[in-house]
Amino acid sequence: MSARPQDREHTQPGLSNRAPLDPLRARADFPLLSRQVHGKPLIYFDNANTAQKPAVVIEAVDRYYREFNANVSRAVHALGEEATAAYEATRDKLALFINAKSRDEVVLVSGTTQAINLVAHSYALPRLQAGDEILVTTMEHHANIVPWQLVAERRGAKVVAAPITRSGELIVEEFIARLTPRVKFAGVTHVSNVLGTINPVRELAKACRARGIPLLVDGSQAAPHLPIDVQALGCDFYALTGHKLFGPTGTGALWARRELLEAMPPFFGGGEMIKMVSFDKTTFADPPHKFEAGTPNIAGFVGLGAAIDYVNDLGLDRIGAAERDLLAYATDALKSVPGLRLFGEVPHKAAVLSFLIDGVHAHDLATLLDHEGVAVRSGHHCAHPLMQFYGVPATARASLAFYNTRAEVDAFVAAIEKVRKLLA
Ligand code: PMP
Repeated sequence: MSARPQDREHTQPGLSNRAPLDPLRARADFPLLSRQVHGKPLIYFDNANTAQKPAVVIEAVDRYYREFNANVSRAVHALGEEATAAYEATRDKLALFINAKSRDEVVLVSGTTQAINLVAHSYALPRLQAGDEILVTTMEHHANIVPWQLVAERRGAKVVAAPITRSGELIVEEFIARLTPRVKFAGVTHVSNVLGTINPVRELAKACRARGIPLLVDGSQAAPHLPIDVQALGCDFYALTGHKLFGPTGTGALWARRELLEAMPPFFGGGEMIKMVSFDKTTFADPPHKFEAGTPNIAGFVGLGAAIDYVNDLGLDRIGAAERDLLAYATDALKSVPGLRLFGEVPHKAAVLSFLIDGVHAHDLATLLDHEGVAVRSGHHCAHPLMQFYGVPATARASLAFYNTRAEVDAFVAAIEKVRKLLA
């Protein structure tokens, strides 16, 4: 049998002294990037929505189904053991990837959305009382708003938001000022999916910790771009999603301090999460298995393991450097377009460019760009409160990855100019 993904050596996401990442070489690893759309070479600028998958990820999923498809933790036969080893190896890789103290602090979930719902229902709900507050920020994705509202409503508590500046920066002192004794929980995105803003999580976590308020960090948009060290960040919960990290859809992780996971009741009940079941009393498995009822997305997690290896092999430092370079280039290029308004202009940001053009609807812009082969997202980006803050119904958003190139940015800006002349 060929080497399974979990057998591959991989490097830690640390600093490397290697040559800068070459986007042209990197993009050759992604089969989909060579396709055409409407007869034009695809320019995929929708990476914040979901990232493309390198061949090693696709092959790992394929190999699982061809060579060791079996359920995890249930069978003693060889296939069952191989599948379990591959699935559990991804937990190890994730633990290293985010520098968790222990693999037992990593719960495998379907994505950030499930991770946050789990924490809202299992941790927050039993602790909330009428009049309590959950503090988030104006720039949150709905995944870091709605789960809190669902549990708050059941207790007569409410979700409140810390404000941001027009340029898209969280006003840290306002966040801290809102950490009153009423606040029982706080949630913040590490990187905004609309603005690209990188929030000062360490500082926020320190302020929360000083007041005994647990902090959840939504790392959906951070994990593909920044080295994550949950211990250094000092937060209590960290959620990430695999499909933005070049892995399969339906995969993700919730990290939490062990003592918090131990104190939380299960969210889903069923097979795999118990020690012993009887009609009188059921006892639960230890974390993280207590939170993993039922058959998981085994193939997906095998693929996610390969994605983490891939990212580690490239090096998040080199990925970050390539993306910062491309972001600076693309920002300058977009600013040269007459009538273009950028949302999110903070110095410390990820490669996300939300924009509008005077007189052009975001959806029209995205549709016409698609005809030029350029995939950007248009809409509210699951961030209604942020759209309300800016007083716009939607924006267009170009989100870049390390496999995007300056030539693609040039073609994108030329396509925008074409559309603008047509519509504005
Ligand atoms: N939070 C942020 C900041 C996101 O960008 C997204 C995905 N757009 C999510 C949460 C939800 O991730 P998923 O749908 O993979 O659970």
